[in-house]
Amino acid sequence: MQLSQLDRLQRFMFDDTRVRGELTQLHDAYREVLNRHDYPAPVARLLGELMAASALLTATIKLDGIMSLELRGEGPISLLMAESNPGAEGVAQQLRAIARYDQEQIERLQESDFSTLLGNGQLVITLDPAHGQRYQGIVALDKGSLAACLEDYFERSEQLPTRLWLASDGERAAGLLVQQLPEDERQLDQDAWERIVALSDTISDEELLQLAPEEVLHRLFHEEQARVFEPSAIAFGCTCSRERFALALHRLGADELRSIVAEEGKVDAQCHFCNTHYEFSAADAESLIERPDESSPTLH
Ligand SMILES: [Zn+2]
Repeated sequence: MQLSQLDRLQRFMFDDTRVRGELTQLHDAYREVLNRHDYPAPVARLLGELMAASALLTATIKLDGIMSLELRGEGPISLLMAESNPGAEGVAQQLRAIARYDQEQIERLQESDFSTLLGNGQLVITLDPAHGQRYQGIVALDKGSLAACLEDYFERSEQLPTRLWLASDGERAAGLLVQQLPEDERQLDQDAWERIVALSDTISDEELLQLAPEEVLHRLFHEEQARVFEPSAIAFGCTCSRERFALALHRLGADELRSIVAEEGKVDAQCHFCNTHYEFSAADAESLIERPDESSPTLH
């Protein structure tokens, strides 16, 4: 399989430690998202960070299904969402993203840092496996950066020390993740975690975005025993289908669906990620209401 230098995910592991890592750089997949909507620069930048984070988490969490990462804010940006499904042998990880925001408020901003753009809000991670229960994890957006909020999520939900560095410039998006796996009985290098975090912390946004993956890894870890795995590909892609929309409409509930049908005579749905349109007739809507619940989300 031909891999471009960009739009890929590079895993690595340090010998004699329980420390693993991933590096991703996105160009075409990020472009595909920006080409579909005319996002203001601060929105596009943060959406890039979210896409890079999504690529890293998809590879970390290893879910057979769809992972969505949402930032729900009360500030000028009300929603940033990235969705992904993992790749397989010879198949790229698919990534898509969308933003909702108030154009006027964005134009009036003097500052465009994370807290100003989103205000109070929540980071919501939803894991929707192909088989089994849907899971949702929620943390507050009170850490001043997307990376810090995700680190908070890992600490609370996975109890694995995890650090992330995310960067985006409107052209490219990139991210680095390192994670300390649970100790096992082997005699290990005890200081490795702190040393690798300190080294990772010396990366600049420019280096993360501009240097080739192997150069980033060499620049940071040339004195460590890092084992680098084959890179995997990432591409823009949508998994929307009539069936997925049917399930989402079913979850809306009978009252909501019937009121849409009463007003419109049918239910129109459009995929915001890829712009595909789906139409459900009044009879379709009734059969959606009748169908049994398949799963109920777990909140914590
Ligand atoms: Zn779609």
